[in-house]
Amino acid sequence: MSSEPLTHDPVVEITQVRDVARDLVVIPNRGVELVPNIGVIGGDHSVLVVETGMGPRNAEKVLAFATEYAKGRRLYLSTTHFHPEHAFGAQAFTGEATYVVNRAQAADLADKGPGYLQMFRGLGTSVAGQLEGVELVTPDVVYDDAYELDLGGRVVRLRAMGRAHSKGDQVVTVPDAGVLFTGDLVEAGQFSIFPWFPPYDVDVSGLRWIEVMRRLVATGPDVVVPGHGDISGAQVLADVRDYLELLRDETWVRRDSAMPMETIVAEVKALMIERHPKWAGRDWIEKGVGCLCAEHA
Ligand SMILES: [Zn+2]
Repeated sequence: MSSEPLTHDPVVEITQVRDVARDLVVIPNRGVELVPNIGVIGGDHSVLVVETGMGPRNAEKVLAFATEYAKGRRLYLSTTHFHPEHAFGAQAFTGEATYVVNRAQAADLADKGPGYLQMFRGLGTSVAGQLEGVELVTPDVVYDDAYELDLGGRVVRLRAMGRAHSKGDQVVTVPDAGVLFTGDLVEAGQFSIFPWFPPYDVDVSGLRWIEVMRRLVATGPDVVVPGHGDISGAQVLADVRDYLELLRDETWVRRDSAMPMETIVAEVKALMIERHPKWAGRDWIEKGVGCLCAEHA
């Protein structure tokens, strides 16, 4: 999701599909906004798809690719969180795949899905077009904290991370390949996305997000597939943790000195851009400052 006008249609293209490990490919987002990195993970008898793309037409493309890739193996679907480009295509998989998510994400989908559908339709005609005909589906399997999905000779771990980027973030780990799918807990080459839209949505928590990043850093994966941006190594986890900690520290020191909000935003934004001049999504810095001010005791 983005707060900037879109320059590209949020269309999933099945191109530059990347072999990340044995029987594990990623359909990359090619730097296109509102297109997520999509994973397809195979085992002996089953294949897991991670993320749907936004809307039924994108998801149908993903399903067609996954069906061909699976060559008769059973299909599963999971999504990292409820945001539209990650999960609002699940209907295309109905009857074709078993949809598994964590309970908090299922609650987000039910509670906030309709509001996000409305909000995203306001982001422009290309987004509204992709969201045409979206029906929010109820996942088939819901778990509380962790779920081990046996694909046959390969067990994939789904883990609920608690509230951070959203209330129901989930990561997907493929231990035998050292691969971690983070969803929007991590973006490569981009400032962290804070969906901080008071009073409508204040579920994002910068403080909890920092804790989540510390836990993910400690897992030491070989490959990190971020929600958006290039497939990376473990360093991207530390980069996001460091960014969030700096954002908190620089925000709070100014908050402590009772600086006006506008000045805090301007100063912190300038600092962060100086630190990461090549990162995209600069508008998200301000949202992050707002969130962290609200979390300042
Ligand atoms: Zn998101």
